[in-house]
Amino acid sequence: MMQLYTPLHFFGTYYRMIQQNFIDMEKMFDLFDVEETVKDAEGAGSLTVTEGHVKFDNVCFAYDNRQTALNGVSFDIPKGATVALVGPSGGGKSTILRLLFRFYDPNSGHIYIDGQDISQVKQSSLRQNIGVVPQDTVLFNDTIMYNIRYGRNDASDEDVYRAAKAAQIHDKILTFPDGYDTKVGERGLRLSGGEKQRVAIARTILKNPPVILLDEATSALDTTTERYIQEALSDMTKDRTTLVIAHRLSTIVNSDLILVIKDGKVVESGSHEALIQGAMSGQNEGIYYEMWQKQLDDHHDLSQTASGAITP
Ligand code: ADP
Ligand code: MG
Repeated sequence: MMQLYTPLHFFGTYYRMIQQNFIDMEKMFDLFDVEETVKDAEGAGSLTVTEGHVKFDNVCFAYDNRQTALNGVSFDIPKGATVALVGPSGGGKSTILRLLFRFYDPNSGHIYIDGQDISQVKQSSLRQNIGVVPQDTVLFNDTIMYNIRYGRNDASDEDVYRAAKAAQIHDKILTFPDGYDTKVGERGLRLSGGEKQRVAIARTILKNPPVILLDEATSALDTTTERYIQEALSDMTKDRTTLVIAHRLSTIVNSDLILVIKDGKVVESGSHEALIQGAMSGQNEGIYYEMWQKQLDDHHDLSQTASGAITP
């Protein structure tokens, strides 16, 4: 029985994922490992997003009772702001995004979007309003047109071109053997990591959600790709509330707010300048300042080995 059950169960989960527009979340949230633990409340209504104001109010969460992952996290993101989540591995950054997408409910505390507790609205309505750009995008074995249109099935070809242009991938696509009809994915043309991420950005631009969750790739990018990605991102995140697990100096410095997440807590928050100044004057513990210095050093080393220097 077990032998039969496992693949069927796997396929069932996979199919449900496609139906619910989850394919992109697979990598970011390790969805195959995540049981559906949350259920819609009885008679739950739909989330109505007017501004995209995101608020965490004293959120505590543990995956299991041996260890807490979030320990009283509070923050407030104004409409349209871009917030960088930074901090050591295991600090709780991914968990914050998973809770906002409601893969889990907090053990205590609340998460609000425009004043509505997300645990009290239909999950489908929540997820319609959130776009996710994972570290590593999964492409379907289908045309590049299909892969971008996946962001919104009723989009016209023109809409797809516009999104691809905004995502800085249109010109690249025109160099493919069959243009937008080129098959991509494992059994077609293989795209680089930077190209796949721009496909994910194009999808998200097409979906046009008021809230965006972004998990930046950790790997170093060459100067040109870095610039393309930054331009694509600034177009996508403009006027949209964005939470980004940030690894790139350019993203961190340009964000409206930086939250330093460590041991399940927000240990420092503020703009880049405020956090650096706070460290200088002893108003914070200088955790961000130390990370910043270290990244600058790493960047310096990288610039020495790469042909062109990457400007932070
Ligand atoms: P970060 O994204 O900042 O690296 P995470 O949010 O992934 O941190 O992890 C926060 C804490 O939760 C860590 O202690 C991690 O080991 C734990 N954790 C993360 N995912 C799971 C999971 N699926 N099951 C159990 N513990 C987890
Ligand atoms: Mg993480």
